[in-house]
Amino acid sequence: MECIFCKIVAGELPSKKIYEDEDTLAFMDINPANPGHALVIPKKHYENIFDIDEQTLKQIISVTKKVAERINEKLKPEGLNILQNNGKRAGQLVNHIHVHIIPRFADDKVLFTYQKADVDDFDRIQKEITVETPEEEPFEEEKKEEPRKETISRKWRKDF
Ligand SMILES: [Zn+2]
Repeated sequence: MECIFCKIVAGELPSKKIYEDEDTLAFMDINPANPGHALVIPKKHYENIFDIDEQTLKQIISVTKKVAERINEKLKPEGLNILQNNGKRAGQLVNHIHVHIIPRFADDKVLFTYQKADVDDFDRIQKEITVETPEEEPFEEEKKEEPRKETISRKWRKDF
């Protein structure tokens, strides 16, 4: 077993645990961006967002909320980032999916940069990455009514 997070789950490596249940573990990041930086992981090994199943993802997000609330209550940061990196280029250092909870304080050294969107690219990319709303059967009474705005936009989106 090479994965250090799997070793933490198995108790082969120490960690500063802050939450544990049957499927999920949260512990302090040993290289924190800020004091109070915590990680939430599924106990089972999944590499990233593409690999993990939806149910397990929901579990880790739910624990993320619990831990974030605790950090917010006890450390009283001025803000808090939830971050989940996929791939080396995105800064994923351990290939076992994990959610970062990073409390933010005035004048801290954590930095994210953003850039102004190029308009043409912005529109092209929007079309390319728009996710279709799942089709749902309308309720009986709705079938008789005029199509609602939502239904129209769904049809419109299919034309691309
Ligand atoms: Zn692992």
